[in-house]
Amino acid sequence: MNPFPPEIVDIHTHKWPSAHAIFNLPSYTSAPAASEGRLFSAGIHPWDTAAPLPEELWQRLKATIARPEVVAVGECGLDSRRGATLEIQEQIFLRQAAIASDAGKPIIVHCTGAWHRLLALARKLPGDCPRIIHGFRRNAALARQLLDAGYSLSFGEHFDPEALRVTPAEHRFAETDESSLSIEKIIDLQQLSLREFYNKSIKL
Ligand SMILES: [Zn+2]
Repeated sequence: MNPFPPEIVDIHTHKWPSAHAIFNLPSYTSAPAASEGRLFSAGIHPWDTAAPLPEELWQRLKATIARPEVVAVGECGLDSRRGATLEIQEQIFLRQAAIASDAGKPIIVHCTGAWHRLLALARKLPGDCPRIIHGFRRNAALARQLLDAGYSLSFGEHFDPEALRVTPAEHRFAETDESSLSIEKIIDLQQLSLREFYNKSIKL
């Protein structure tokens, strides 16, 4: 499966406009405004789960995800510090993964303080849905566990060099997220070659 267009290098950014990048739409945004050839991810951030999510919102999200310029679902996931209870966050996360699987698009995963739950959830995620944990800053031991559970990892400005090293190239992605640095600079900090990130296919 290679759902990302070949020119994509930065799989997750909040900076607009940004070339060679997947721009993350804020939660509840129904459709990209003037997209100007840009690519997007759309989803419900765990921080935005505190209030109940009406069915109408889910239908709108589904329609947004179906659009060709929306190439990934997210960021979605688990956060122990903000949003609904983790039980409810899990349901919301799994529902988004199911929508992603139906649409044939990967999920961009946010996780803070809920790694054991995310590991346990791996078995419940649709088997054909690539899952990329974004902004991974934790150590190599956790990286190995997540890779074994079928997650890929995306590294940004702040990362553990050993975790980066143990992640095989086919499961390794790069992102700017909220950083003020360019993606080229970030990949340079990671001592990797920009070329690695073009034409990246997503392995399950
Ligand atoms: Zn982000």
